[in-house]
Amino acid sequence: MIKENLANIKDALPEYVTLVAVSKTKPETDIMAAYEAGQRVFGENKIQEMAQKWEKLPKDIEWHMIGHVQRNKVKYMAEFVSLVHGVDSLRLLTEINKQAMKHNRIIPCLLQIHIAEESTKFGLNTSELNALLTSNEFKALENVRICGLMGMATFTENQTQIRKEFGNLKTIYDSVKKKIDSLSILSMGMSGDYQVAIEEGSTMVRIGSSIFGVRNYN
Ligand SMILES: *Cc1c(COP(=O)(O)O)cnc(C)c1O
Repeated sequence: MIKENLANIKDALPEYVTLVAVSKTKPETDIMAAYEAGQRVFGENKIQEMAQKWEKLPKDIEWHMIGHVQRNKVKYMAEFVSLVHGVDSLRLLTEINKQAMKHNRIIPCLLQIHIAEESTKFGLNTSELNALLTSNEFKALENVRICGLMGMATFTENQTQIRKEFGNLKTIYDSVKKKIDSLSILSMGMSGDYQVAIEEGSTMVRIGSSIFGVRNYN
C-alpha cells in the first residue's frame, strides 16, 4: 500500500515540488517500504523520535523536522537534520545556530508563518517576521540559512478559506524573496490540502496519512 500511495502522489506532483513523506509515529518498516520505492525525504515532528530513526536507518535519508521545536532539544538533531521547518523565533534560531556551530555546519531553516485562523497554530506574523529579518542579531548568525517559509492552513472543509490562507503565505514569500534572494522553498500543503497549496505556489508538501495511512496515537 505504501508503495502504491507514494507512486500515486508522486505522479500527481509537479516536478518542481519536493515531497516530504511524514513518517511521525510510524515504524521503521514503513519508512523502509517508502525508501525502497525511492523516497529519501522524511518528516518527523518529535526530535527524539527522529534521532532514533536517523541512527537506525540508511544515512542517505534527509530528515526534516516539521513540528514545533523546543530549544532544549535542538542539540539532539543538530548533527544530521536537513531542514527545520518550524522556526518561529529569533531565540530558537539563535539556539539552532549555536548547536550547528558545534558540528561545524550550516543548518537550513524555514521560518514558520501564522496563516490559520486558529490561535493554536504556531508561527510569526508579518511584523514579527520583518523584525526578525532586519535585526542585527539575526544578521550575525552564520550557522543557519533561511531557505524559505512554512505555514499551515486552518483545519477546515472550507476550500475558499484554505486557498486564501495559502495565497497570503505566497504573497509574504514573494515579498521576503525580494530581500533575501536565496529563498527557494515554500513549504505548504498536507494530505488534505496539498493540491490547493500547489495551485497557490507551494514548492514543498508534507504528506503523512495519504502515504502511510491514518496515525495511531496511543
Ligand atoms: C503531521 C503533519 C503533517 C502531515 O499531515 P497529514 O495530514 O498526515 O498529511 C504535515 N505537516 C505537519 C507540520 C505535521 O505535523
